Amino acid sequence: MLVVMKAHATPEQVSAVCNKIEALGYRAHSIPGAERTAIGITGNKGEVEPGTLEEMPGVQEVIPVTKSYKLVSRDMKAENTVISFPGTAATFGGPGLAIVAGPCAIESREQAFAVAERVHRSGAQFFRGGAYKPRTSPYSFQGLGEEGLRIMSEVRDQFGMKIVTEAIDHESLDLVEKYADVIQIGARNMQNFSLLKRAGRSRKPVLLKRGMSATLEEFLMAAEYVMSEGNYKVILCERGVRTFADHTRNTLDLSLIPAVQRLSHLPILVDPSHGTGKRNKVTPLSRASVAVGADGLLIEVHCDPDKALSDGMQSLYPDQFDELMSQVRQIAAVVNRTVPAIGEHARVPANRGVSSSLRAAQP
Ligand code: PEP
Ligand code: MN
Repeated sequence: MLVVMKAHATPEQVSAVCNKIEALGYRAHSIPGAERTAIGITGNKGEVEPGTLEEMPGVQEVIPVTKSYKLVSRDMKAENTVISFPGTAATFGGPGLAIVAGPCAIESREQAFAVAERVHRSGAQFFRGGAYKPRTSPYSFQGLGEEGLRIMSEVRDQFGMKIVTEAIDHESLDLVEKYADVIQIGARNMQNFSLLKRAGRSRKPVLLKRGMSATLEEFLMAAEYVMSEGNYKVILCERGVRTFADHTRNTLDLSLIPAVQRLSHLPILVDPSHGTGKRNKVTPLSRASVAVGADGLLIEVHCDPDKALSDGMQSLYPDQFDELMSQVRQIAAVVNRTVPAIGEHARVPANRGVSSSLRAAQP
């Protein structure tokens, strides 16, 4: 059920409707839009009797929501959600693309700072790195834990990039919430409903990756779990799904981007690193991701990928990331998006034409 308020409804009228919904034993989610505020009702088993709400001052209409997801849907909020970070120009869902880059895992202070310095210089506004790694083998590197989070907060102090890092359980989420700017929930946990609810009780934005075999509806329902607890700052991320194809690690499903954008107001990123698992495919699919309308990219970068403790095969060298950025800057312009430049370094050299750059051989 969705209560659509009139364009000029007062804040008092909005809270009166929310109070009424809560008094009926349901949960009210008031989401302001550009034109009007909509109030989603959750916690109802069946139909909510619309009569009482419809008569309240400031109410335009009460509409039943037939889809299983409510708060993520464009019925709830017609315009795109933009998640911003005070004091910076970085956003998820704004006209500027969000570029999240860094190593798969934080391995040491030296390693993190070496990558951070390079990705910052190339224009990334968000630094990623795992402190808690969900590894297929229990004998593989599991991450530095809280020490890794401390290193990332030093990276933020030094370079001003916002920190994105994964929480794998309730315990790590408590710590990630304390140190990071964005909480990542990984593919393997997309349907860990208790973790999703815990993330929904946080005030920090949540970057939710698509499960490796999740349908569009399952993906949106996972986001709904987070939002149903009151955290409306959810960023979706396509990272490839498991298919019969074996020329890549996963099959990057770029058709998900317009499909999500049709149904949901939430920003959606693409992660071509996990999406392909192969370094030489990351840049071409980054270009394609921007062209298809993604709100940003998540890219793994390492200064010495052969020695990386995880995901070296898909990690770009810093120079390749720099080239990727200059290429996506050109594609972004075509789809009316921008890639924020940082200082002198991030400027596209004047002599680099679109065609020559796009033709550049991929290592
Ligand atoms: C990661 O971002 O390093 C990661 C583990 O991603 P995913 O959950 O998509 O596999
Ligand atoms: Mn990884």
